[in-house]
Amino acid sequence: MTTELSSTTLDDLLDRARKDYEALAGRGLSLDLTRGKPAPAQLDLSDDLLSLPGGRRSAADGTDVRNYGGLQGLAELREIFSGVLQVPVAQLLAAGNSSLELMHDCLVHALLSRVPGADSRWVDQERIAFLCPVPGYDRHFALCERFGIDMIPVPMTGSGPDMDVVERLVAEDASVKGIWCVPKYSNPDGTCYSDETVARLAAMGTAAPDFRVFWDNAYAAHHLTDEQVEIADLLAACEAAGNPDRVFVFGSTSKITLAGAGVAFFGASAANVQWLLGNNAKRSIGPDKVNQLRHVLFLRDADGVRAHMERQRALLQPKFEAVQRILEAELGGTGLATWTHPKGGYFVSLEVADGCAKEVVRRAAGAGIVLTPAGATHPYGDDPRDALIRIAPSYPTLEELEQAILGLTACVRLVGYEQRSTEA
Ligand code: PMP
Repeated sequence: MTTELSSTTLDDLLDRARKDYEALAGRGLSLDLTRGKPAPAQLDLSDDLLSLPGGRRSAADGTDVRNYGGLQGLAELREIFSGVLQVPVAQLLAAGNSSLELMHDCLVHALLSRVPGADSRWVDQERIAFLCPVPGYDRHFALCERFGIDMIPVPMTGSGPDMDVVERLVAEDASVKGIWCVPKYSNPDGTCYSDETVARLAAMGTAAPDFRVFWDNAYAAHHLTDEQVEIADLLAACEAAGNPDRVFVFGSTSKITLAGAGVAFFGASAANVQWLLGNNAKRSIGPDKVNQLRHVLFLRDADGVRAHMERQRALLQPKFEAVQRILEAELGGTGLATWTHPKGGYFVSLEVADGCAKEVVRRAAGAGIVLTPAGATHPYGDDPRDALIRIAPSYPTLEELEQAILGLTACVRLVGYEQRSTEA
């Protein structure tokens, strides 16, 4: 092996990569690795929801779920998710089917009506900016773009955003009003925030009195290994640090039950909850409580959620293992790429040589493998190093996924060796 490698010239490697790519392109593949959607087999796990609530009309407290009202959402569902999302039941809202919608609404409400602690509405302030840990979730960045909120990238580390940078930026600039955080199994690099990161987010001094952490705990229960990572409780830490209103917690069952027909949650201090409820009272006469009730009947309790997530894991883990296996077999030791080894969540982040990500994605598309556009993991779609590619293994079948990742590695070799040969 060693002798073979040392006698192999760059020309040979490039030659082989070109042949592999030609063969790949000739196979007429049509594979999609773009979005972190649950596969149909994962959705099938929640098929019972389709026949629930099975004629039941009332919630535990006698509320007729078919009617208007109950803006807070069903208490028995909030009880089930209180522990998962680390929010006391009384401070947790169960809402519609999408947490992204709640994040959108929180931004709109903050722009148009003062959040607790604010001197004025965000829309009346000259400039509003959010810190965006990178790599991050493109839909967070799209919300900022939509509302004219400036984005300031902050590098991610293995334990969350670089807190030295965060602390400096929030301390010196009152127009910095928030930070996007996916604290557990983050999208896209799988990072889990350390206890120290959580403590510093809670305690840091902010120039803006109305600064908010948008704590998008989308993958709170989404483990892929026996090591079930737990993160520190930011809401409690904020309260203990004397900053009770600092955090908005978001979560949903989109990747627990049905991605398009789950339930989303919002948690925060009592003052923040009142603020959102007051604003939402203008927007809706109440959430879909029939959906909330069927989730209660289906999941039953926190143990029910855990058991269900084990069934999800049984479907997802082999896919994530296949990604690791193929990346290691094809790219290990080449120096062409590094990648993350997430213990949960929905994504693997692949880092190629600077200046190569867009070209890899273009070549893959040319061979029928559609990837998330390079740059999507950065504000304004601009990865200054052009090095990151997000892999979403959940949706394709295991066989399709294996073909797609193998194809992707051929593209990485082709583009990487082409770059090396032009530099040589
Ligand atoms: N946040 C993150 C970090 C996500 O990855 C996703 C789904 N890709 C969402 C939110 C969307 O959540 P929901 O379906 O509840 O709107």
